[in-house]
Amino acid sequence: MSERVIPLIDQRLRSRPVAVPSQPIPASGLLGDTLGRPLRDLRISVTDRCNFRCSYCMPKEVFDKDYQYLPHSALLTFEEITRVAQQFVAHGVQKIRLTGGEPLLRKNLEILIAQLAVLRTADGQPLDLTLTTNGSLLARKAQALKDAGLQRVTVSLDGLDDATFRAMNDVDFPVADVLAGIEAAQRVGLGPIKVNMVVKRGTNDDQILPMARHFKGTGIVLRFIEYMDVGATNGWRMDEVLPSAEVVARLSAELPLVPLSPAAPGETAERWGYADGSGEIGVISSVTHAFCRDCNRARLSTEGQLYLCLFATHGHDLRPLIRSGASDEELASAIAAIWQQRDDRYSELRASLPPDTAVGGRRIEMSYIGG
Ligand code: SAM
Ligand code: SF4
Ligand code: SF4
Repeated sequence: MSERVIPLIDQRLRSRPVAVPSQPIPASGLLGDTLGRPLRDLRISVTDRCNFRCSYCMPKEVFDKDYQYLPHSALLTFEEITRVAQQFVAHGVQKIRLTGGEPLLRKNLEILIAQLAVLRTADGQPLDLTLTTNGSLLARKAQALKDAGLQRVTVSLDGLDDATFRAMNDVDFPVADVLAGIEAAQRVGLGPIKVNMVVKRGTNDDQILPMARHFKGTGIVLRFIEYMDVGATNGWRMDEVLPSAEVVARLSAELPLVPLSPAAPGETAERWGYADGSGEIGVISSVTHAFCRDCNRARLSTEGQLYLCLFATHGHDLRPLIRSGASDEELASAIAAIWQQRDDRYSELRASLPPDTAVGGRRIEMSYIGG
């Protein structure tokens, strides 16, 4: 029998302690990092577990039955998450996205949503509160999520061809059940709904047109994501990336498109409208067209590590501070000091780096930190 090799250094252990600055940093909503980027978007991972094994994210060979997920005691509680989120909102966050792993696997998630839904920005506005899901449990949970105060959802779906999709999620999950989840979300008003499709050349690029035709005219915004070199386990190769420019070219040959202006500063997707006015699509070009200049996103891991970039090799461990009895002001100041020192711009630098470079260690996994 061959020996099992796990090519993974446990990223969860790589973190920097967080200190409270000696001078408080008041929450003005005007926080900037070293490149002047504000803090507007917080992505919170609520679990590191998933019921899918998408090969680009949680390949089966690594995330098998022996994989050590975080123990329950390591996870931030809903109260802890809400308290941290509140400090981020005070510093200017306007949008919170729950992610994972598969966020709908976290028990009683509606309770967390209800707690986050009552947070208000400094000028009294509700947050843009959303969630990214693989859709497998959405048909069952859509109504409860809506009732708890979730505004909208993004559903990941990599194709309409059942065999292709079953192979990509690698647990034989059918397309029809995800489509039923999307319909349920639409029915209960969890919109505008976005659908994310990761495009892998030679695997599902034949699904680009069928997916566009399916969602055209439905009010659902389909977004094509370039397959990214995130994490250290998916065996990423540049020749499997289908550049967004090619996606747009293939689509517009059949379904004419016109460019649209960005919906918001820091928006990751480039928007295109159907020339006949029947809706829009987006392309997220994280490999071929860096968008670090406007990146206003922070990521909070399931156990309270703050990451400043999707390609970071270290987190900032907020949990000890959260559990130390520090005041809200101290917590807010510590978060502000971390953001003020941020200089991450991995996607911009990628072109000039040797392949698989991760300065200071291996990169975190997408399933750990969320998209
Ligand atoms: N499980 C949920 C889902 O799949 O929607 C939420 C977490 S998942 C990590 C968030 C998003 O990251 C998904 O849309 C997924 O397709 C995307 N993703 C994961 N690995 C990726 C990769 N290597 N390149 C591009 N997108 C990726
Ligand atoms: Fe799970 Fe989402 Fe990763 Fe797929 S992309 S393995 S559904 S966390
Ligand atoms: Fe933001 Fe890092 Fe992605 Fe650049 S590479 S857009 S800094 S998350």
